[in-house]
Amino acid sequence: MSSYPIASIDLAALQHNLHQIKKLAPSSNVISVIKANAYGHGALEIARALHESDAFAVARLAEGIQLRQAGIKQKIVLLEGVISKDELLAAADYDLSLVFHHQSQIKLLQETKLAKPLRFCWLMLETGMHRLGFSANDVTSILGLLDTSEDIADAIGLMSHFANADLVDDPRNQQQLEAVLAVAHTNQKISMANSAAIISFPQSHQHWLRPGLMLYGISPFDNKTATDLGLKPVMQLKSALTAIQQLHVGDQVGYGGDWIASKETTAGIVSIGYGDGYSRHLSDVGQVSINGKLVPVLGRVSMDMISIDLNSCPDAAVGDEVVLWGNEQLSVEQVAKQANTIPYELVCQISGRVTKDFHYGQN
Ligand SMILES: *Cc1c(COP(=O)(O)O)cnc(C)c1O
Repeated sequence: MSSYPIASIDLAALQHNLHQIKKLAPSSNVISVIKANAYGHGALEIARALHESDAFAVARLAEGIQLRQAGIKQKIVLLEGVISKDELLAAADYDLSLVFHHQSQIKLLQETKLAKPLRFCWLMLETGMHRLGFSANDVTSILGLLDTSEDIADAIGLMSHFANADLVDDPRNQQQLEAVLAVAHTNQKISMANSAAIISFPQSHQHWLRPGLMLYGISPFDNKTATDLGLKPVMQLKSALTAIQQLHVGDQVGYGGDWIASKETTAGIVSIGYGDGYSRHLSDVGQVSINGKLVPVLGRVSMDMISIDLNSCPDAAVGDEVVLWGNEQLSVEQVAKQANTIPYELVCQISGRVTKDFHYGQN
């Protein structure tokens, strides 16, 4: 028996979303992005269920080592590369692939003799985000160094990252793609497209896709739902009613007494809070789904619980299930709007205190 709160993870929906990606870009390979514990969904189980993925990507060394130690055999790319000699040696030991984005990493490689060469490595090109990457002027010389290094086993690919892929038809996307194509050699493998670009910018597909968000069945666009895009939500976050309170006019709810009853109100207490990753920004503005109804969050989100308005659910009883997001009534995209953030942040914040329940189908 698993106890609430539960993040119910539908691995069949995950596999469906990977197939959607392959349909959208049938001639590209897929690097499934499973950084940040697979966007809060559980990196190991997600990696195992994505066995049809051609490679994986994580942000950092520790994330890659965790996957290797759990027996994941596919290529694993560290999107941030390494920052020290020790990290470089460990990456080589664990057969992790690197993104080189800064001169200091080239220097580390030149100064370090690796036990076995690195494979499936990438050079990050700066094309507009001004975060990570070499400028176009440096690419030829850096590629020369990498391609002749004994510590690099195969040809280096060219990678860049869109800053505005969620803005469909924004001219900056085309400019970023052209900047990459302008420096790529013939036959050099290229990787540009994140979820939004996979869906809305087919020209950007090239050889290797890097989907994250859409794998989890979440829409990267403000004006399109996951269903519009043929995606199935993977996570449903749910908990249970632990108490019911009868409030009278003037009664205050929660820390600070921000919410004050203006009429007789039945309030339900739900076992979920910011200690589980339920955003405190949902205080007073969030909604939850209970017994087929959407009802508001009353007052501040606490560490372990929230209060909800049960006036529209007179039959609600202690023990009833409450869905925080991920059913037909309430998507994580909607909840992100209520919290004035993006769905990426909400799912990434799910804490270790939430029980994960993995299954195939029936979320
Ligand atoms: C996180 C990340 C991705 C995945 O982006 P989504 O918008 O989640 O599809 C792709 N590439 C890089 C470099 C990333 O950091």
